[in-house]
Amino acid sequence: MFRSIRWRFILIYFLLVFLAMAIVGFFIIDNLEKIQLDNITKSMRSHITSIIASSSYLQEDDWHDYTEEIRTSVRENIQIGYNENLYIILNNEDLEIIGSTIDNVVDKNPYDVKRVNNFLLEEALLGEISETIPPEEYDGIQSKVKHMAYPVKNQQGDITGIIYLTYSLESVYETVDNSKVMLTRATILALIITIIIGFFIATSITKPIKDVTLKAKEMSRGNFDQFVDVKSTDEIGQLGMMFNYLTKELKNRISELSQEKSKIETTFNYMADGVITIDLKGKIIHANPVSKNILNIDNTNIDVGDKLISKLSPDLSLETIEKNSWMGDKKVEIKGSIYNINYAPYKNDKGEVGGVIYVMQDITEQQKLEDMRKEFIANVSHELKTPITTIKSYSETLLSGALDYKETTKEFVGIIDAETDRMSRLVQDLLKLSRMEYNEESWKKSLVNPGEILESVYKKLRIRANEKNQRIRTNIEKNTNKVLFDKEGLEQILQNIIANSIKYTKRNGEINIRCFNKEENIVILVEDNGIGIPKEDMSRIFERFYRVDKARSRDMGGTGLGLAIAKHIADDHKSKIEINSQVNVGTQVKITIPAAEIDSGDEYEDREV
Ligand code: ADP
Repeated sequence: MFRSIRWRFILIYFLLVFLAMAIVGFFIIDNLEKIQLDNITKSMRSHITSIIASSSYLQEDDWHDYTEEIRTSVRENIQIGYNENLYIILNNEDLEIIGSTIDNVVDKNPYDVKRVNNFLLEEALLGEISETIPPEEYDGIQSKVKHMAYPVKNQQGDITGIIYLTYSLESVYETVDNSKVMLTRATILALIITIIIGFFIATSITKPIKDVTLKAKEMSRGNFDQFVDVKSTDEIGQLGMMFNYLTKELKNRISELSQEKSKIETTFNYMADGVITIDLKGKIIHANPVSKNILNIDNTNIDVGDKLISKLSPDLSLETIEKNSWMGDKKVEIKGSIYNINYAPYKNDKGEVGGVIYVMQDITEQQKLEDMRKEFIANVSHELKTPITTIKSYSETLLSGALDYKETTKEFVGIIDAETDRMSRLVQDLLKLSRMEYNEESWKKSLVNPGEILESVYKKLRIRANEKNQRIRTNIEKNTNKVLFDKEGLEQILQNIIANSIKYTKRNGEINIRCFNKEENIVILVEDNGIGIPKEDMSRIFERFYRVDKARSRDMGGTGLGLAIAKHIADDHKSKIEINSQVNVGTQVKITIPAAEIDSGDEYEDREV
């Protein structure tokens, strides 16, 4: 109970009032007693002197002669209070009580009377007026009594006797005791009032403090809408104002912080890279969805983050990082994708390293492009190397004397010319591809009739087919729908595909070319009964420089770029090229182009060469 400030206030007030009342009471009672005793002493003295003055025989030298008068006087004339006792003591050779208000002590030696203080008698015999309050007990009743011994001298200055007066102080101590009781009651009343007033004062002080405490408690639970009523401008009021200001500031700061946190969290959650943070014990502190997916993180393996990372590469384990350097990067392969993992330490609130942040960037595409670039350079170098070597060796042979032989010269120059043609074709194809890839090829798209273009390409190429004694059959719908296409682009596609059929079909082979409307598309089919393409190569034939049989393709003047170019053009015109093939049976190439204008073209023109 006394741990509460309210009760402490009350206790302090209580103790202060109690102490003040006790001190004041003590002084009052003490002084009251002293004053009363002083008054009694004075009145005893004046009483004794008035007795001496009013009794002429007490001025005589020998009181013995007046014994009777003295006794009568004591009994009848002298005024003695009910609480007083008088002893008239004669000083002869011996002391003798010759008159007293107490009968049974008369004629006795006062030294033998218990009620008379011997010490005072001695003092009086020496001529001193002496007094005392002895701690005496008479007749079993304890009562304080004031004693006074007054020596009476004759004209020669001899002590003729002693007037001994006692005064019962019972009434004095009764008064003192009454005063004590009164003061005690007053003190109790004052203390009760103090407790009541103290309670209200303490409550008025502690209530606002309690209010602030309660609101602070609410705030600690995350509810920051806490304001206290400020009713004064004193220290408590200032505390309330400060609390309200603090709450407002805190609310603003927390809102700023949570906004920042939310921004960072959103960034983490939606970023394409995986981010994972682990502490020095290897426990995962944060992992965004991408990293969770990459490392299969769930609630079961949250404590073994370091293990998961070390599995990717021992170089990424906390132990190795700590030994080598806290910062770095490492390329690793995870589930068929390549990731570049960057890591760096983060500091805790003491400024020490608290753990490591890993950022996992998927660089599979980048890596693929890089590999493709390398492969491309290797392919181009290789493609150019062969004709250059051939040209070089033939020209060297010519220069070393073969020039003298006309026939040989003609043959060699012919070969050099063919190789140069091949190089030129290669370079041209490469230029075409690169222009297309860098979007430099601006397609001049217009409405063209695919049948007509097919017709013109076929006418250009049929000579080659004739040379190989191949039979080409065309079946082209007369009024095929038009397509929105770059004319030269479409020519290029058809030329590459038909040329391939001629190239990869043996002498006397057959090639069928068809063109027709199909739903909202135009379909061009080029079929041959040539050598076909093995199944395992099918997925790669659109790649640049990919050839099923390199030597044969090269011999036939192929660059390995024809289909790549055709596909590129088709893609740029939302068209499709599909190839079906069977080794030694034949190949079918299907080109599907979306029609620009739908027309009913059911007239066919069949031809055969
Ligand atoms: P190339 O210049 O070598 O002909 P392409 O890109 O045009 O290059 O063709 C790629 C490869 O696909 C060829 O080398 C060839 O092996 C194969 N190919 C293409 N068309 C046919 C076809 N009609 N018959 C058999 N093989 C073909």
